[in-house]
Amino acid sequence: MLDTGPGERRLIDAAFRDEMRHVAARAAALDEDGCFPSQDIAGLAAAGALAAPFRAGDPVVDAEQLPEALRRIGHASLPLGRLFEGHVNAAMLIRRFGTPGQWERAGREARAGALFGIWNTEGADGVRLVRRGGGLRLHGGKTFASGAGHVDRPLITARCEEGGIVLVLARPDAAPRADLSGWKAHGMRASATGSFDFTDLAVEPEDIVGGPGDYHRQPFFSAGAWRFCAVQLGGIERLVDEARLFLRGRGRHEDPHQLARMGEAATAAETARLWVERAARIAEAEDVAASPDAAAAAIAYVNLARGAVEHSGLEVMQLVQRSIGLAAFLRDHPVERLCRDLATYLRQPAPDRALCEGAAHILRSTQPLGEIWR
Ligand SMILES: Cc1cc2nc3c(=O)[nH]c(=O)nc-3n(C[C@H](O)[C@H](O)[C@H](O)COP(=O)(O)OP(=O)(O)OC[C@H]3O[C@@H](n4cnc5c(N)ncnc54)[C@H](O)[C@@H]3O)c2cc1C
Repeated sequence: MLDTGPGERRLIDAAFRDEMRHVAARAAALDEDGCFPSQDIAGLAAAGALAAPFRAGDPVVDAEQLPEALRRIGHASLPLGRLFEGHVNAAMLIRRFGTPGQWERAGREARAGALFGIWNTEGADGVRLVRRGGGLRLHGGKTFASGAGHVDRPLITARCEEGGIVLVLARPDAAPRADLSGWKAHGMRASATGSFDFTDLAVEPEDIVGGPGDYHRQPFFSAGAWRFCAVQLGGIERLVDEARLFLRGRGRHEDPHQLARMGEAATAAETARLWVERAARIAEAEDVAASPDAAAAAIAYVNLARGAVEHSGLEVMQLVQRSIGLAAFLRDHPVERLCRDLATYLRQPAPDRALCEGAAHILRSTQPLGEIWR
């Protein structure tokens, strides 16, 4: 659980809720190239949210609190949600594959306000871990790295000389390694998703987390995708909330066409919520780590949940834009930014493969559909 004992703060408490209001209020001002939500991150640290995923206890995830926290942050700001989701993912990888010493050290840093991230995506010059002068060094860089230049402790994948891929908890130095010049994005501008050059950065043996292949180890790698779906869900619900405000403000909320569209939008948003809640429960169930069948079922469910949430997001965007009309395309309207952020954040790796793998699980199964995930 994220809260592991009596007296420990829960992740979602009054301070967290208060902070979400500030985050939502600041989001429009941060919608610029090169922006990063430093104040929001400091607010999450002050509310105890950066430390929460690093608290001792087993299981790490509270199946209720974490989905709800990710959803609420996504509702307030999708760029902040992406950053927090990376922080949580890094915590889980260190917890799962790191040594007790690494977990303890990372927890200390998180409690002191350090932001973690997980950077895997790379281009042709991907990161390699090389032996040089008796020590270990990194060579190459990452692309699409959220919080590039801001994340204190990036957990990265690196190919080692023997050929495997290992996780390295890098210690960025003061050199100017981040490059945000390529992040001229349609949305998610404040996520500072840039490239980062790790060349010549020293690595100590204790910075290597787990062994070769751990990052891609299943079911955790695929089933963990429910977490970005939870952030996306927050953005989807926020769009419906903004449309309701607009329609009531204009006195258009009783028009039958608007009612029909809002009914469809609410249905799509609730569909996403049901998928996300169930995906989180199935993916974080205790038997998933121990049983290959449960693991395969969890991966399939989360793969399908990704598509369901994407569909809901795309549907809600077009319904809300049609209900509000041209105002939804004016830059000072929150829906304009929210749609750009959501449309951008809905782009996640290999969506077609996720759908087909989910479908393949169903086609392989001899159980009736209604019993596959029961
Ligand atoms: C805001 C934001 C922040 C991010 N932050 C991070 C981060 O901090 N760390 C990190 O590691 N990554 C990050 N990423 C990158 C992310 O993990 C994915 O790499 C990225 O979103 C993939 O998007 P894509 O549309 O290019 O995916 P793709 O997988 O390239 O999919 C695009 C299309 O190509 C299809 N496709 C995919 N593979 C094939 C194939 N082999 N053959 C044929 N068709 C194919 C897909 O089905 C889809 O239709 C971030 C992304 C975003 C949007």
